[in-house]
Amino acid sequence: MRTLRIGMSGNDIMEIQAVLKKMGYKIDRVDGQFGPQTRDAVIEFQKRFGLTPDGIIGPNTYRVLERFLNGYDLYVIRPGDTFYSIANRFGTSPELIIAANPDQRPENLTVGQRIVVPYAMNIVDTNINYTYDVLSRDIQGLKARYPFLEVGSAGNSVLGRNLYYIRLGTGPNQVFYNGSHHALEWITTPVLMKFTEDFLKAYTEGRTLPGGYDPRDIWNRSSIYIIPMVNPDGVDLVLNGLQPDNPYYEDLIKWNKGSTDFSTVWEANNRGVDLNHNYNAAWQLSKDAEAEYGVTGPGPTRYSGPAPESEPETQAVVAFTRNHNFRLVIAYHSQGQVIYWNFMNMAPPEGRTIGERMSAISGYTLDQTTGIASYAGYKDWFIQDFRRPGYTVEVGLGENPLPISQFDQIYNDNLGVLLFAATA
Ligand SMILES: [Zn+2]
Repeated sequence: MRTLRIGMSGNDIMEIQAVLKKMGYKIDRVDGQFGPQTRDAVIEFQKRFGLTPDGIIGPNTYRVLERFLNGYDLYVIRPGDTFYSIANRFGTSPELIIAANPDQRPENLTVGQRIVVPYAMNIVDTNINYTYDVLSRDIQGLKARYPFLEVGSAGNSVLGRNLYYIRLGTGPNQVFYNGSHHALEWITTPVLMKFTEDFLKAYTEGRTLPGGYDPRDIWNRSSIYIIPMVNPDGVDLVLNGLQPDNPYYEDLIKWNKGSTDFSTVWEANNRGVDLNHNYNAAWQLSKDAEAEYGVTGPGPTRYSGPAPESEPETQAVVAFTRNHNFRLVIAYHSQGQVIYWNFMNMAPPEGRTIGERMSAISGYTLDQTTGIASYAGYKDWFIQDFRRPGYTVEVGLGENPLPISQFDQIYNDNLGVLLFAATA
């Protein structure tokens, strides 16, 4: 952790601004710029927690801030404590504490035991650059709050990052949602992560979700598997830039036509392969179409790779799919407000009818892909090999990367789709 002070900028500052804002400090713009308002908020924070109020985030201030970034605190039970009194002290709810500590009997707390105390505020921020580090922290935070949540890794990226998966529910009807095959389309990751948190929270509190969905009913009937970030290396190039220790440093600059700026062009993984053109479904047609798009090798977009499933990310997603029994899959992309449902007329009839419902719920157009986009994508491969409903959902409207300010609209449009598809 670097020391942060006025005049600096970065994704770490953005994250801290978001948490200070959630805590009620005055932050008008979560923009990653450490300006006078952020400094004043840090000073207020430092005063409240008995820290030196210098407006600089050094190790001591960060140590206190980190608890709020993680979304929970640890607390050792003292004589006379109840979950209710602890909840009051931390400004949170007894239900959240009970869910986070299934081994504690609420009527008979064990003095001296350490418990997890989740804060009332949500973990998943939807107003920041959603990096791999944020994803890792959020998954760890959700697991601490909801220990019954199944999380794991479906494999590793080229650079060894985890391809995290989450499972919501224990039922036999398995569905699979994934996001960020394409690096510029990272806004799809917080869509799936916010869905995860909202679902867990409603499940724990016994509340229904919009549309009248009962999360406990879905939990028993279905298992919703989610890989929120299929391409963490690509997302890192877009959001954090090319790091000097990247083993592909020189190659990546060459593949990016001599530029070190990946923030507005890069869709591929760290080897310049477009992961959604790397599946074994009419892959050769995807390869043959490269020339007409001026693609001659690794690059920002549309390079299908040297062979189908040549990349560790696609291999992991294929293995994950084969190891389950998915009744339906959705690959989330941006942009266009379109739902693609077919592949070479191999989709089953219900692929269209379910797609029509998803279209009605979201307001997105139901369509079929044409040209190079029709080949070698995840949903193409799934439809071809399993003959079950598979979808590409293109969220939002505009030019990638979509501004995070579109998030609320996108989430509103897609929450019903995510709930409906889990039971369709
Ligand atoms: Zn895409």
